[in-house]
Amino acid sequence: MTEDRHPFADLGLHPAIVEVVKGVGYVEPTDIQREAIPVVLAGRDVLGMAQTGTGKTAAFTLPMVQRLSATPSRKAPRGLVVTPTRELAQQIRRAVTTYGAASSIESIVIHGGTRLGPEQEELAFGCDVLVATPGRLLDHLKRGNVDLSSVEVLILDEADRMLDMGFIDDVKTIVKATPDTRQTLLFSATMPNGVRWLAHELMRDPEEVRIGHEMPAEGIRQLLHPVDWSRKHELLLHLLGEWPDGQVLVFTRTRDTATYLADVLRTRAVSVVSLHGGKHQDQRDKALKRFREGTAKVLVATNVAARGLDIRGIRHVVNFDVPEDPRDYVHRVGRTARGDDTGDAVTLMASSDWVEIRAIERLLERNIERQFVPGFEPEVSPPSSEEETKVVRKPTALRRGIRRRK
Ligand code: AMP
Repeated sequence: MTEDRHPFADLGLHPAIVEVVKGVGYVEPTDIQREAIPVVLAGRDVLGMAQTGTGKTAAFTLPMVQRLSATPSRKAPRGLVVTPTRELAQQIRRAVTTYGAASSIESIVIHGGTRLGPEQEELAFGCDVLVATPGRLLDHLKRGNVDLSSVEVLILDEADRMLDMGFIDDVKTIVKATPDTRQTLLFSATMPNGVRWLAHELMRDPEEVRIGHEMPAEGIRQLLHPVDWSRKHELLLHLLGEWPDGQVLVFTRTRDTATYLADVLRTRAVSVVSLHGGKHQDQRDKALKRFREGTAKVLVATNVAARGLDIRGIRHVVNFDVPEDPRDYVHRVGRTARGDDTGDAVTLMASSDWVEIRAIERLLERNIERQFVPGFEPEVSPPSSEEETKVVRKPTALRRGIRRRK
């Protein structure tokens, strides 16, 4: 009896890499993997648009690992991944380690917020794959700590975010330091004109791979809870009490609110960590580690955690503050329902949030279901939408809990 071929083998991946994929537990490739992997393996440039949580990292890492593992050299990097945030850089590095388990390729991650010295030593030691944030990589490049002239595969991940964060010139300088003969893969959750121009400038006849568009994954149940602005934190505490299972990621707009809210939750005996750009890197690392390991139930974060973070335990995303940019809403809610999971994304909506909510609903091309939480009905109601408003009754005991004020 012949064994059925694994679907990942049909994409052109080597048996050893297919074994790794099996070991990780993937049965079927996701859409982006099915579309992108054969094209990348064929050596073509790829301009990929994929929504968050679609398996994009494996779509570029698996073929890169296959290409580089044929001749591991551990000298100057031959694979280079540039990504906007430190946390994403670390996450991609872990993916390279996981997916490259069958090969002897070595990877390094470098990013801001840490000392240059240890990174410099690692770079001097050499690697096959370098994962980096743009600013820090440019810093090393200018100091002559890294040589990008051997790069065969260049991956620009979350290109739209790098553009938004003002990294465009850094990215261009980095790309100039790599050979023209490289293969370039550019991934972006959205495809604004800036990204298109960048792609046009940096890529050779790229194959466009477009999976879905700017929409949250289907497994995410989205709700709006109207509430008075001043009672948002009480409502959050109430909701946390309703969710005994799974972890919760709470988004705030500012660093100060993230810190304040984490303090409030801590005084109510919630195991909470916070993450924002104002923290030192080692604090950010520690917070994320605790959350990843599940020792903290709640992570309160600014948009720094909106993109790409892949933490399986997250069952609930809460927009404590409504994001200013509607695209950030899509990224934030994409932190739950990763892979095939399901999850809830709730947005605490004060009347002053109305304009942003409408912008989000326009982007989604639909209204998000409104649900009043008994005991938290706002004194000033936001304008109603075309959609029916639902009231859900909670058990009385829980309602009593809600009423307890600080
Ligand atoms: P990403 O979009 O790369 O951040 O991946 C989102 C999540 O999907 C990660 O937890 C991956 O481990 C998971 N994933 C990636 N590819 C597959 C697959 N083919 N089947 C199931 N889960 C996957």
